[in-house]
Amino acid sequence: MKQLTCTGPSAIEWRDVPEPRLQGGGEALVRPLAVARCDIDLFLTSGLFPAREPFALGHECVAEIVELGDAVRGFEVGQRTVVSFQVSCGTCRSCAAGHTANCDRYPVLSDYGMQPLSGVEYGGMLADVVRVPHAAAMLAPIAPALDSAALASVSDNVLDGYRAVAPHLAATPGADVLIVCHGLKSVPLYAAQAAIALGAAHVDYASDDAEALALAERLGARPLRTDFEKPERRYPIVVDAGLTPVGLRYAIRATAPEGTLQSVSFYAGGDTPMPLGRLYTLGIRFFTGRAHAAALLRAVMPLIEDGRLRPQDVTTRVVDWDDAPAAYGEPAIKLVVQRS
Ligand SMILES: [Zn+2]
Ligand SMILES: [Zn+2]
Repeated sequence: MKQLTCTGPSAIEWRDVPEPRLQGGGEALVRPLAVARCDIDLFLTSGLFPAREPFALGHECVAEIVELGDAVRGFEVGQRTVVSFQVSCGTCRSCAAGHTANCDRYPVLSDYGMQPLSGVEYGGMLADVVRVPHAAAMLAPIAPALDSAALASVSDNVLDGYRAVAPHLAATPGADVLIVCHGLKSVPLYAAQAAIALGAAHVDYASDDAEALALAERLGARPLRTDFEKPERRYPIVVDAGLTPVGLRYAIRATAPEGTLQSVSFYAGGDTPMPLGRLYTLGIRFFTGRAHAAALLRAVMPLIEDGRLRPQDVTTRVVDWDDAPAAYGEPAIKLVVQRS
């Protein structure tokens, strides 16, 4: 079968690879129908995280079930589902606690399409068939009325944006929210969307990226163009979504005393400066950590089904499946690849 494969820095091509087969009764084989490019994918394909060998691309998708193991209940062949981008069993102690990003049965960062991070190749979603080792835990059915391309990013970046604000707005209903976008493309926009949907009084969006600011405004947030020097006010809830220490520092300075700063950033290279004295003195609670995809899917899907979250409004480019090799390396806030 064909699999979109990164063969070196900025080198992306279809490669023929063996088609996966069921290896156990609780498994499923799925055929991806629409795949969204995650915010991390351009860093993977650029060679920021060196890979020793070619690796499969794509981990956010809507897929159709093509085969099910004997032990899978509650799903049927032909059904469309969102597929957790993280591999998780659903039954270990971590999964039972909702910490499905850190399933006890798999090495850390066991995700589709991220072999350079985990060292293990689980396959990628830009392929004809993908093996899902724990169907009951990793698949979330979608309503027939919903469009596959609209939901392509739900399994990762959409729920990452949701979890950045949902618990904090639940603790302080109606609070003002600031999203600080300094390098991540779509996750902060999904966070703005979620904050509005969950009843934040005001959602401000700080960035130096004109295209991101314009899109944030269309979603209903107030755009704040900034060079990340000095915040104009402080907020009870702040989301840090980016790559730079200067952006993180701005997010910290924009957090009100006793406020909450949620980071969805992956500061990969070396140590990142952190003013713990300021956090201590002002009582700022700082949260970091990866989203728990399988656990969060259950919370996010109802919001999409009732129309309160519209991930398609963040999509800036949709291309045909055959055009993936060229399009996957080109800039876009949110790219979706779909089968025609
Ligand atoms: Zn991702
Ligand atoms: Zn587990």
